[in-house]
Amino acid sequence: MPFAHLGLSEPLQRAVAARAYLAPTPVQAAAIPAVLRGADVWASAQTGSGKTAAFALPLLELLLTRRPGGPRRVSALVLAPTRELVAQIGESFRAYARFLPVPVKVAAVFGGVSINPQMMALRGGADIVVATPGRLLDLVDHNALSLSTVGTLVLDEADRLFDLGFADELNRILALLPARRQNLLFSATFPPAVQSLASALLRDPVRVEVPVEPATKPDILQRAIEVDPPRRTQLLRHLIETNDWSGVLVFVATKYATEHVAEKLRKAGLNATALHGELSQGARTQALADFKAGKVRVLLATDVAARGLDIARLPVVVNYDLPRSPTDYTHRIGRTGRAGESGTAISFVSAGTHAHFQLIEKRNRISLPREQVPGFEPVELDAPPSPAGGGIKGKRPNKKDKLRAKLAAEQNPAVPAPAPLQPGKRPAASVPRSEPKELFPLLPRLPLRPRRR
Ligand code: AMP
Repeated sequence: MPFAHLGLSEPLQRAVAARAYLAPTPVQAAAIPAVLRGADVWASAQTGSGKTAAFALPLLELLLTRRPGGPRRVSALVLAPTRELVAQIGESFRAYARFLPVPVKVAAVFGGVSINPQMMALRGGADIVVATPGRLLDLVDHNALSLSTVGTLVLDEADRLFDLGFADELNRILALLPARRQNLLFSATFPPAVQSLASALLRDPVRVEVPVEPATKPDILQRAIEVDPPRRTQLLRHLIETNDWSGVLVFVATKYATEHVAEKLRKAGLNATALHGELSQGARTQALADFKAGKVRVLLATDVAARGLDIARLPVVVNYDLPRSPTDYTHRIGRTGRAGESGTAISFVSAGTHAHFQLIEKRNRISLPREQVPGFEPVELDAPPSPAGGGIKGKRPNKKDKLRAKLAAEQNPAVPAPAPLQPGKRPAASVPRSEPKELFPLLPRLPLRPRRR
């Protein structure tokens, strides 16, 4: 079905043509007419499926009809979990709006940078606000904007909004919105928290489910390579060089590891840089811009930093450390193979993370042959013992879990509960100090990450 049949006006069709979109993706074909009708939408769409345009295009179309004369009022509010995603969605809106007959003002606001320029930018109002929840509330508290005119609320990557601890902020924001409004919820997965939000929020929603089947799944070759943890950096370097990869996004578990592995690769002559949540916003933007421009060949990133990134022509994603949950695996590998391009996703698996990877495979209904690279065959055959109360779940400990672990430790002092890792601190080393430690087998449960604003 061509874009012309979806009910979008000519300037929007021209904008998608200018971006060389030939036809709508399945999520666009299903969601755009529903949003234009004013229906609520519940979309389970994988990352890279074109979901941003699935809400941005019809919202711009609605704006043309909705926009009253007089001062600008916020007509649509889009909430997304990370700064990078917010910035990216803001850019997409602007690109799609470029041929519209009236200028559309899109404000993209997120934490980690000074609030003042954002307050200034909101003077005179905005038509569309894209925001991380914490910064949005800060701006409301500063009377920089009012949400009382929002006609459509979009929750993008709703599962990750909960993962990152934004539940309280979401509730506060919902209380500030008009009761009568359209709600669009996009999520790659629907864990219980998202399901209950969906049933509380959505009225008679149009369900859009884009099945992850070979026909619609991005063209991603998934591979699992067995390697001992201390040899991962060397193997990574070997793979980059022998395959001559032009750009590689490498996921590691900690901020420390991003820096450390980047440093080692740089010493080996590869242009590598780190991307993690504790870098300043300027440094993050720069790292990303350099990677996108091909100035940096290897980007070492934590999940938080890499969430939602849209990097055109990213051929390879490497799970240097395995993701915590099967859901994170889906998100990570979705960074490559976007919008019809092919890509490769490689996971490093060791004796200690073998069981965890099996769980990821099971939940994602995949089964990958284990490969070994000559010269890097693993020698560590036995998995380290599972820690007390461990379990390789895709879930962080809640207060009850922590309490239970504490009680168990008190009742049985001979089996100490695993000490939680302090953010930013390295675990005690039992592998050579030169390699970042593999976190999963030893620390299956990291403490909750501090909320990002
Ligand atoms: P998203 O899932 O929204 O992050 O989009 C993933 C990528 O697909 C982005 O680079 C979009 O520009 C691109 N894209 C979105 N819609 C289409 C389309 N209909 N045809 C080709 N590419 C698209």
